[in-house]
Amino acid sequence: MQAAANTDRRADFECDVLVVGGGPAGSTIAALLAERGRDVVLFEKAHHPRFHIGESLLPANVQLLDRLGLRDQVERIGMQKYGVEFVSPDHDHLSYIEFSEALDKSMPYAWQVRRSEFDEILFRNAAAKGARAFEGARVREVAFDAEGATVQVEAESATQTWRTKFLVDASGRDTLLANQFKCKKKNSRHNSSAIFGHFTGAKRLPGKLEGNITILWFAHGWFWFIPLADGTTSIGAVCWPYYLKSRKKPLVEFFNDTIAMCPGLGERLADAVLVDGLVHATGNYSYNSTLSSGERFLMLGDAYAFVDPVFSTGVYLAMQSAFSGAEVVEATLAEPARAKALRGAFDRSMKFAPREFSWIIFRVTNPTIRDFFMDPHNPFGVKEGLISMLAGDVFGSTPIWGRVRMLKVLYYLVSLGNFRRTFRAWKQRRINIRDVQSVVEGSAS
Ligand SMILES: Cc1cc2nc3c(=O)[nH]c(=O)nc-3n(C[C@H](O)[C@H](O)[C@H](O)COP(=O)(O)OP(=O)(O)OC[C@H]3O[C@@H](n4cnc5c(N)ncnc54)[C@H](O)[C@@H]3O)c2cc1C
Repeated sequence: MQAAANTDRRADFECDVLVVGGGPAGSTIAALLAERGRDVVLFEKAHHPRFHIGESLLPANVQLLDRLGLRDQVERIGMQKYGVEFVSPDHDHLSYIEFSEALDKSMPYAWQVRRSEFDEILFRNAAAKGARAFEGARVREVAFDAEGATVQVEAESATQTWRTKFLVDASGRDTLLANQFKCKKKNSRHNSSAIFGHFTGAKRLPGKLEGNITILWFAHGWFWFIPLADGTTSIGAVCWPYYLKSRKKPLVEFFNDTIAMCPGLGERLADAVLVDGLVHATGNYSYNSTLSSGERFLMLGDAYAFVDPVFSTGVYLAMQSAFSGAEVVEATLAEPARAKALRGAFDRSMKFAPREFSWIIFRVTNPTIRDFFMDPHNPFGVKEGLISMLAGDVFGSTPIWGRVRMLKVLYYLVSLGNFRRTFRAWKQRRINIRDVQSVVEGSAS
């Protein structure tokens, strides 16, 4: 799909590649292309450092940061995360998995990061590699033609018209192009919303486990507990939209009541204080676009799709899409004969990971999968396969897929063996994901 051709190609400024959005996806592709000598312009509507949710990274992300030469900088701001702790109201024990148990032993940890700091590192890196990086500059309109696009940018002082040979949409959940092309679809199989804030004084795990993410299930979904390096802990409830919609109280009070529904978390927050008394809420965010590229554009990261934060895949998939997207852009500009095949591979890779992760995401509140996480056994190597997937090792050559298939077979067998429980859970999920008029987003103190 391409927008109607714009015959007026007069512009104030020109570039090879124009990137919309200076989050992980946009800053990564801007750096990669600038490094190859492309004239890249990167527009970010906010000013770094700016708040963003999505603080838990995956081990597979570390390799991408290595390739950008940023491991040391992220190590300095990050909290090392060696694994995941699971807490279930239906089990009287805690469960831990460690990334060192994955098939590929070369990526034993990741980091928890403040996104304001992490995203600024990536953005400044793009500029250091030669991209012209602008903050406080919002891309408003894009008109495509056969040779590229004409783009209206609202900068702080004036509106500018840019001419580019290629446009990369990395605008995150603003989904600039998917909105313009009207190709953004709600995920018909999932529906989810979140309420979150930062706390000081939360009780953390001891020693090396301190930086682990904890997932705690409760009646309306699950909580994340993400320890950051400066002692702050990020707490968020990912809940079914009907639950958030039921809110009759101010956001902070509602969040406190929600925390009280999860005794395992309440205990850890007994002496904790909400930073600035500030709580954020975000509405149904499970969607995808029906296309991810065209001859003169790509959609990366959340600008293409987002499903659910439970396995902390968002930043990794955004950066990974930038790495494969950079090959498509480069081929379009330098070797057009190769571009079509690379675009096909890019489109397939954009669908691949959300599809594979969705299988578990859709079942993560299901009692069978919860039992798997709470009592992880390793028949046919399924545990190693699952941990490899949770580490983000899904694009390489590690042989995880036979084990993941086996995990699915075991899931279906155990579910059949507990037919009544499975049926009840299936019916409950249908009720949980029902559509409610959009939940009001916002922050309040
Ligand atoms: C509740 C919740 C919890 C999450 N937790 C995690 C987690 O723990 N780990 C994880 O990996 N992921 C998590 N995610 C997902 C993660 O936040 C995203 O997947 C990730 O930020 C995507 O990166 P991106 O670069 O595609 O988009 P973004 O990070 O959203 O960056 C897009 C950038 O584009 C800018 N922009 C938008 N429109 C324009 C425009 N028109 N002009 C100029 N600039 C523009 C924005 O200001 C923004 O800076 C979570 C998501 C949610 C909703």
